[in-house]
Amino acid sequence: MNEINLKLNQEDLIIKAAELIFNSKYLVVLTGAGISNDSGIPDFRSSKDGLCTKITPEESKNIFKEPKIFWKIVKLVGPNLIKAKPNLSHRILANWQKDKKLKTVITQNIDGLHQEAGSNWVLELHGNAKEFSCIVCHSRFDAKKIIKSHKENEEHLPPSCPSCGGLLILNIVMFGQNIPELIWMESVSEAQKSDVFIVIGSSLVVYPANQLPIYAKKYGAKIIIINDSKTEFDEFSDIVLTGNSSIILKKIDKFIQKLNNKSDF
Ligand code: ZN
Repeated sequence: MNEINLKLNQEDLIIKAAELIFNSKYLVVLTGAGISNDSGIPDFRSSKDGLCTKITPEESKNIFKEPKIFWKIVKLVGPNLIKAKPNLSHRILANWQKDKKLKTVITQNIDGLHQEAGSNWVLELHGNAKEFSCIVCHSRFDAKKIIKSHKENEEHLPPSCPSCGGLLILNIVMFGQNIPELIWMESVSEAQKSDVFIVIGSSLVVYPANQLPIYAKKYGAKIIIINDSKTEFDEFSDIVLTGNSSIILKKIDKFIQKLNNKSDF
């Protein structure tokens, strides 16, 4: 068990986390649904009201044959996410990336909010629901624009690729589908390179994303977990901060700024 956690209260732990982050040489973050809660996005894989409970495995197999399944998925995921805006957590991480403090954001989310907040290097494990991708040439397109120009109708065929005419599908990884290999390899490599690895808003139950902190730890990284409830990995991490990610990150960020000012002298 993490010794630091046993002795210190949450405010002390926040200072410890800020010091670890400030002194890190290769900081990598993994984010999950919890980071987008403040933006009003439901967890699309949650058992309560996630998308995956509304699409049966049978339907996901028939997405290419049945236009109405295609449009059902688009209606469930697309419009909700397109309205959502990044929150303070996304903005703080984007600032850390701009300041070259944070190397890589790996996310289990499909909402594109890290990029919208200004993050320039994001590995999306489960895709991006704001995009369509072509199953033939793999080009990606803004979903909103394509939906606008296409007659959205349950009986109407899904839109086709403007480049090659191939079928377009939402660029998301459904349950039972594999994470694109290149994205996965790159995520593992980033976890292994990290010296501090932060998990934000993920309870680390979804495989294989939940293996990333294990890779990081095996290669010597310190692990910080910020989540509103317990995670599978709390026992193995160095610092566990329980609560709302925006509130916790704001406090950490404030302390990092203090450390920055001190080191300027
Ligand atoms: Zn194409």
